[in-house]
Amino acid sequence: MYTRKTCSSPGCSARTLPNSELCLEHHEDGETLNAMAGDYIRETTLIRDFFFPGLRIANADLRSKQIINCDLSYGYYENCSFESSVFQFAVLNHSHFVNCSFKNIRAIECVFACSSFKDCSFDGSDLVQNNFNGCALINTSFSGSDLMYSRFINCNIHFTDYEDCNVKGVMFPGSQLKEVSFKYSNREDAIFEYEH
Ligand SMILES: [Zn+2]
Repeated sequence: MYTRKTCSSPGCSARTLPNSELCLEHHEDGETLNAMAGDYIRETTLIRDFFFPGLRIANADLRSKQIINCDLSYGYYENCSFESSVFQFAVLNHSHFVNCSFKNIRAIECVFACSSFKDCSFDGSDLVQNNFNGCALINTSFSGSDLMYSRFINCNIHFTDYEDCNVKGVMFPGSQLKEVSFKYSNREDAIFEYEH
């Protein structure tokens, strides 16, 4: 991983681009760089060691990718399909995902923390040991997934389904769950409160 720095523009706390003192928004070529990064991930199947915090991408077919050791945090993703992709050591924290599909993905030790997911689906996925702490999940589905030992601590989870899932050891303490279904899942094996 490259060294994590914050943007040198006054008052900006966003992550810098690689080899830059500035974030994507404050970089004078930001729009061009964003377009190039979008083209790169659209056209590349094995995306490895790619660091582009702040990526904005919409309407992208990103199915069957391998995304390994990448920083795609602080991004904005709308109408993107990551179906059947593999994510390994990828960070997608502090991002916004709207109407994105993560169906049938395999994510290994990935960080989705402090992101928001609205109208997204992770159905049928292998999501063992991932970090969703501090996320807002709205109208999103994890049904048919293995979520063993993933963390959903301090989340807002609304109108979201965890049906027919393995939720053994999944942590939900501090989360607000509203209209959340665990039908056909082993809800009793998940952890909703810290033991005192
Ligand atoms: Zn900045």
